[in-house]
Amino acid sequence: MPVINLNQTEEILASNDPALLGRLLKESDQVRRKARGNEVYLRGLIEFSNYCSCNCFYCGLRSKNTLINRYFLSREEIIKIAEYAYRKGYHSICLQSGENPVPEQVDFLVELISCIKEVTTQNGGPGLGITLSIGELSYSQYLRLYKAGAHRYLLRIETSDNELFSRIHPPGQTLSSRLECLAALGDIGYQVGTGVMIGLPGQTVSHLVGDLKFFLDQDIDMLGMGPYIPHPNTPLARMQRYITIDSYTTSLKMLALARLLMPDINMVASTALQSIHPEGLKMGLKAGANIIMPVLTPPDKRDDYKLYAHKKFTTLTTLEQQVDEAGYKMGYWKWGDSPHWHQRRNRGK
Ligand code: SAH
Ligand code: SF4
Repeated sequence: MPVINLNQTEEILASNDPALLGRLLKESDQVRRKARGNEVYLRGLIEFSNYCSCNCFYCGLRSKNTLINRYFLSREEIIKIAEYAYRKGYHSICLQSGENPVPEQVDFLVELISCIKEVTTQNGGPGLGITLSIGELSYSQYLRLYKAGAHRYLLRIETSDNELFSRIHPPGQTLSSRLECLAALGDIGYQVGTGVMIGLPGQTVSHLVGDLKFFLDQDIDMLGMGPYIPHPNTPLARMQRYITIDSYTTSLKMLALARLLMPDINMVASTALQSIHPEGLKMGLKAGANIIMPVLTPPDKRDDYKLYAHKKFTTLTTLEQQVDEAGYKMGYWKWGDSPHWHQRRNRGK
């Protein structure tokens, strides 16, 4: 049974008491160690393309941002990075890109995923676990990618509040269509991850309580949430006067509350959290996160994959050191899947 209920979360989120934050982090750490151990699992992040057909008001990759160079990594480049990740003991990668639901891209990924699976299982090993984070697609496209070998999918809803969602997206993008996608992913059999941004203009603690309720109602397996960080070439960056939440502290509280409410899920210490505070990774882990996504995108492309300003790059050695200093251990050579997913499958859901 969770050690907290939703009714208690609003007061905690609204509080400025550092002692309360300290107690919250201590409790969430205990719950995390009991439910998920002290290991931190790796998802090597390959940002394989920054082409995007969407125009999300907060994101630097939006199609109307003409100030970035668009790129698409070649099949060979991606396979080389995937093999490197496997050799290094990451044992999972996350393929991420802008949203591009055209048949050619799905065909490309289906072949690519099959090939990565083949090359990483040929010596009898378990192969690379593959997570996708490529936005909204059709049911049949998700199904093809799953059959090719991807088994986890991250699709954030950004906010569970319909009105706030419509304020940060253009009219063609809707919360209901994200919900349909999440339902499709669950139905197909993926381990389903979602999440929100924290500290958006116009966002209140009541919205965040709604987000926690949404995660519980959706029975999610994975959570990827972090602070909203303005990107200069986006419309939302002009709305900063409407930000009322301290995105860093509130992100830590949201992670901790999520861990208390959902002890057995996998939860990411996001790059955004690491980017806004020097202690972001350590504190995210202490708040209950057990997944990190080291960036494996080639150095010459990283500057063109800026979802937000000042995105931080941290080497694996530094990450390892920070994980160690925070009191956890790198979960090399393991997939580290969410036990919640196994449990959900056993319940037939
Ligand atoms: N195109 C895919 C995957 C890449 S974007 C998709 O949208 O799902 C991945 C995530 O980056 C988004 O879900 C969003 O939550 C996050 N993101 C985008 N812009 C951001 C910003 N300015 N600050 C913090 N996170 C941001
Ligand atoms: Fe595209 Fe994802 Fe950025 Fe939206 S958040 S503009 S879908 S890359």
